[in-house]
Amino acid sequence: MKFDLENPLLFLKSSENPIWDSHVHIWSADAFSELERWGEVYGVKKFMGIASPEIKKNLESEEKADKIKFGYYLPINAFAEHNTKVLLTAVEEAHTLGYSIAKMWFGPRFLDYTNAKQPFSIDSSSFEPVFALLEDLNIPIDCHVADPDIWYEKKYLDEKYRSKKRAISEFANVLSLHSKLKVISVHFGSLPEPNNHSFLGELLDKFPNLMIDTASTKWIVRELGRDLESSWEFIHKYQDRILFATDLSVGWSNQDRPIDYIPTRYWTQRLFWETNYQQVKLPFSDEDNQNSQTLINGLNIPEKINEKIYWKNAQKFFNSK
Ligand SMILES: [Zn+2]
Repeated sequence: MKFDLENPLLFLKSSENPIWDSHVHIWSADAFSELERWGEVYGVKKFMGIASPEIKKNLESEEKADKIKFGYYLPINAFAEHNTKVLLTAVEEAHTLGYSIAKMWFGPRFLDYTNAKQPFSIDSSSFEPVFALLEDLNIPIDCHVADPDIWYEKKYLDEKYRSKKRAISEFANVLSLHSKLKVISVHFGSLPEPNNHSFLGELLDKFPNLMIDTASTKWIVRELGRDLESSWEFIHKYQDRILFATDLSVGWSNQDRPIDYIPTRYWTQRLFWETNYQQVKLPFSDEDNQNSQTLINGLNIPEKINEKIYWKNAQKFFNSK
């Protein structure tokens, strides 16, 4: 069995449960229509869309705002350069323009794209006023803390990248100092690998304001699908702390995306959460799994739990102030 663009709901149960995709990137207002169109097919009714002020304004004038909670991307250069002033101005702007959340991206390779002149750490004192202001203004953060375990074994050998363990503990230090800051740690807290589940559980136990999301599709499906029993237990225990998300990115000018880019991600995630089909070929390439085909092993999560992951947790997170 495999994905079929002609029949995009193949093998999925018909479901009335609406889905809130809590992590997408919108790089042009026009491109949002692709997300909207495929969202209708798969039941995705709302989005947290990371978008520039101009794109946000355009989408609002097209009356799309009721479908989107907007995320403000804090400048990664300013983090690399430890430029507190620029970051504080950005947070003020996010607040003034009515953004719902601030995105920050600390995938270790961000140090290669920027002019980092000193060693980086998330809990650096330069960023302390930034987290404090976000907390005061009641703006949650959507934070990418670290990358897949396998990347640290292969591409992050230089010490400037820090170990994954260190990145997570720096992040935990920030959480300890800001107990009112609402946080989404994306990509399952950067810890979807089965050997990380108990550590991730400890973090969720320690920080009640911490949520995690289910982006990106291939990383999550590959790692959670490796040990269904551990994943099932974890999801059952932390069912109120998980938000459905894809990290789909639309409208980036040089991006040459295949026509099935959006539906393959939604199909894969729904098959993974809702069904018990096993060993189904992932319908797109997974460059992190060069030696073998990444397979989807369905988790078959009960509907009562899926309702929370798909919708209720996001509704609660984004609508409560
Ligand atoms: Zn993202």
